[in-house]
Amino acid sequence: MSQDCIFCRIVAGEIPSAKIYDHGGVFAFLDIAPVNKGHALVVPKKHYETLFELPEDLGRELTIALKTVGRAVMRATGATGLNLGMNNFEAAGQLVNHAHFHLIPRHQGDGLNLWTQHAYENDEEMRKLAQAIRSAIG
Ligand code: 5GP
Ligand code: ZN
Repeated sequence: MSQDCIFCRIVAGEIPSAKIYDHGGVFAFLDIAPVNKGHALVVPKKHYETLFELPEDLGRELTIALKTVGRAVMRATGATGLNLGMNNFEAAGQLVNHAHFHLIPRHQGDGLNLWTQHAYENDEEMRKLAQAIRSAIG
């Protein structure tokens, strides 16, 4: 646990939160500044900074938590959709350096536009980038 980390302190109960889930290595609570009401954060109890530090063997527990909390958020808010998001590193908008997943309940026509999409210059650019990513996977 990191004393400087707000989410570690929430998990430890040192900072109050609207807790909704506490099972095994995973904890969830409501985001204090919701995109839509019911916006929840699912976090590993241990301090890992980003997706890339998360241990693979937490994957099953995390998936169960995301599905359980996501379903409950939808049911309790009457949402008919749900976005799952994760910001990694400052450039992607990560403000709290304790890995966390956002679950955002969505309603038909709620007008939320999560991101703007663009076009590639041409097919060649797209093919080359796919090749570079396949090479990076190794
Ligand atoms: P990030 O931008 O790092 O992906 O998201 C951090 C999220 O944590 C933000 O949506 C923000 O509203 C939420 N947050 C920050 N501090 C607190 C807090 O003290 N309590 C709760 N419940 N949420 C917080
Ligand atoms: Zn932490």
